[in-house]
Amino acid sequence: MRRFTVRAQLPRQLASLQTLATNLRWSWHPPTQDLFAQLDPEAWERVGHDPVRLLGEIRSARLAELAADAETVVTVRELADDLEAYLRDPRWYQNEREDDPSLPAAIGYFSMEFGVSEVLPNYSGGLGVLAGDHLKAASDLGVPVIGVGLLYRSGYFRQSLSLDGWQLEHYPVLDPQGLPLQLLADRSGAPVLVEVSMPAGRSLKARIWQAAVGRVPLLLLDTDIEDNDPDLRGVTDRLYGGDQDHRIKQELLIGIGGVRAVRAFCAATGHPEPDVFHTNEGHAGHLGLERVRELQDRSAGSAGGALSFDEAVSAVRAGTVFTTHTPVPAGIDRFPVELVQHYFASPDDGAQTGSRLLPGVPTDRVIALGAEENPSMFNMAHMGLRLAQRANGVSKLHGCVSREMFGGLWEGFDTDEVPIGSVTNGVHGPTWEAREITELLGDGGAAALAEDVVSDATLWALRATLRSRLVDEVRRRVRAAWLERGASAPELGWTDHVFDPDVLTVGFARRVPTYKRLTLMLRNPDRLRDLLLDPHRPVQLIVAGKSHPADDGGKALIQQIVRFADDSAVRHRIVFLPDYDMSMARVLYWGCDVWLNNPLRPLEACGTSGMKSALNGGLNLSIRDGWWDELYDGANGWAIPTADGIADPVRRDDLEANALYELLATQVAPAFYERTDGVPSRWVELVRHTLATLRPQVQATRMVREYVQGWYAPAARAAAAIAADDYAGARELAAYRARLNAAWSRVSVAGVDASGLPDTPVVGAPMTVRAAVDLAGLDPADVSVEAVVGRVDESDELDAPVSVAMKHIGRTDGMARFEAVVPLPHAGLTGYTVRVLPAHPLLAAPAELGKVALA
Ligand SMILES: *Cc1c(COP(=O)(O)O)cnc(C)c1O
Repeated sequence: MRRFTVRAQLPRQLASLQTLATNLRWSWHPPTQDLFAQLDPEAWERVGHDPVRLLGEIRSARLAELAADAETVVTVRELADDLEAYLRDPRWYQNEREDDPSLPAAIGYFSMEFGVSEVLPNYSGGLGVLAGDHLKAASDLGVPVIGVGLLYRSGYFRQSLSLDGWQLEHYPVLDPQGLPLQLLADRSGAPVLVEVSMPAGRSLKARIWQAAVGRVPLLLLDTDIEDNDPDLRGVTDRLYGGDQDHRIKQELLIGIGGVRAVRAFCAATGHPEPDVFHTNEGHAGHLGLERVRELQDRSAGSAGGALSFDEAVSAVRAGTVFTTHTPVPAGIDRFPVELVQHYFASPDDGAQTGSRLLPGVPTDRVIALGAEENPSMFNMAHMGLRLAQRANGVSKLHGCVSREMFGGLWEGFDTDEVPIGSVTNGVHGPTWEAREITELLGDGGAAALAEDVVSDATLWALRATLRSRLVDEVRRRVRAAWLERGASAPELGWTDHVFDPDVLTVGFARRVPTYKRLTLMLRNPDRLRDLLLDPHRPVQLIVAGKSHPADDGGKALIQQIVRFADDSAVRHRIVFLPDYDMSMARVLYWGCDVWLNNPLRPLEACGTSGMKSALNGGLNLSIRDGWWDELYDGANGWAIPTADGIADPVRRDDLEANALYELLATQVAPAFYERTDGVPSRWVELVRHTLATLRPQVQATRMVREYVQGWYAPAARAAAAIAADDYAGARELAAYRARLNAAWSRVSVAGVDASGLPDTPVVGAPMTVRAAVDLAGLDPADVSVEAVVGRVDESDELDAPVSVAMKHIGRTDGMARFEAVVPLPHAGLTGYTVRVLPAHPLLAAPAELGKVALA
């Protein structure tokens, strides 16, 4: 059966409901949610709080009744006005840009998945939800982001369980007409199509759906159209489904087609063109290649002539930011080189004009951008790093891990010099915070939480309300899950008594890759059972999460949990809830007292679910990994000691699981159950401190501001500098790189000496370091020569080195002479050396080109 959705004809007085329903801002605006609920409370529940579906379900008689109700009409108008003001009025970014016009005109933000709301199920997990939160926070701040992704016909998948606890996957087909989307059309009203060429003279076409995420447009490409060959219609069928060939088509589409979609969108709407492009993980990395092609194309008629590939790459890099999200090498997106060659392919006539896919972009240069240790593989993260002048990980610890993991791209540099920074992820407060919390605290921090403002009893009562709502939701979901597993209603009376609104509630929900260790808690099942069934201080535990459909190992872990939880002796205290998604997640974050996370450190890049719990006064109980490594302060939850020095994984799991049981039994439960006048004052103190200190730090607005100030603004400035005067900077930088490449292998430090020190120098004494450098024909201004002084450690390396730039003081015997005075930085055994680095005003970091000559 072919299905389609017909939208309701709204009475004139209620016409603005259409805009209120299709702009996703309703999803973080409680008054608009209240309005929809009140239009038809019963239908609102039935459609799972989906305004577009709601408008399709309300009977015309009810609509007429509402249109005649003055109060409803006024509310609709007020909320429509409020939305219009939100979309129009200057916000934070507009004020910033007034002071600093070099801020970008627009930012293209590319991501394989976007989790904006459960009504647009276009995500699998943390990466997508983060991307959604990024767009929403950008909207709130007025940052002119354009999101770019794919619209999957079946999203990820819906999870249910078989009777014996095995994960089953369902792929309900989504009808774009029934989603909050609008097709991008040209002036004549015809849908805009983008095309990406495919082998054998074929072409992949996609239409462009627009979602309105507050002020931020999100463009989603969709190949399911009749203009495509039948097999190509399926390119956007599922997120992370299919084989490598399927995946590369999706990635070529999002990268190349995505840039074309942005161009079409800007042309059709007058939106400013992005001057900065942000690649959220490597999947969309081809966007840089498409921009190289564009630049070469556009510059063909310019005074300076067409840009070469290298010149265009210099220009593209300047305006590109790359964010890496995985510290797990196995999690990196890679393709066989042959597959990449198949799609890029050289023209049959052998002309040197580049690939068939992107004229002007030679296939061998593309392959070189994705080169890695294994010559038969193409690495999307490596291409992402090579095509972006600025790159970052997603927590401080993950920044360190990334510098180490990708350090090979910058050989000769210390790990901490590798040019990958970090921006710790954040979460969108208005999306994830229970409204009771927002109503109590507003935007306030510590002051709003002073004890004379919010009493212990008030905070505790609020936590109890949220927990009790969660317990209702758990009962509803457990019952539904059992009906789906094949139980009959009369057998399910017990589900009405699952969980207890007064018992310490622990949440553990995540995707199920190995490193997240879903079953660590089952390491010692008796111990867990004792904790759950403790007569005085019981714990109740909610587990949820999807396993990738191809990962039978993950499904076996889920089954282990389900079997444990099915036991009638514990089933009132532990549940596995199928189909973890944003709608379930929200209620969990609101109501859980404790949020548990036990990844294998340091494999959790950031983790954001614990942040969402903290927004609601949930206390984190976590391995110090990702964000928790930097924000745990000893009074906002608990750190599970990690045994990350232990090589034996079995022993490590044993140690960490024991530490977890110990903490639960001796710290967490006692703090929760020790009451004075009915209130657990120690617990409330932890909650108060979490809300006062973590809540402001975990906000996505904090994250987006950091991206604007530390990444987008410098990238926009660099892109402008390199593009000025007909790309003079790009031409000059590419020529400089060519000069370096030709000479660098012969650049050497021929001699180093030091003088000026007394026999027994003390810290701070000035040492004069001199060096003779063979510049192999380069100009002294082409390089920076540094004296490096540090403590000598046991392995004869310099520890805590200090670098001082040396001055060029002349030339003798064919050698350039450099000199610097360095105050001795440390006591103890001291060593010094000299190194030569590239220097150019258009470079963002000394290590950027991966070149260094050491004495
Ligand atoms: C926040 C969120 C995630 C990511 O949580 P992690 O802590 O990063 O594992 C996954 N799924 C949903 C539905 C979420 O809301």
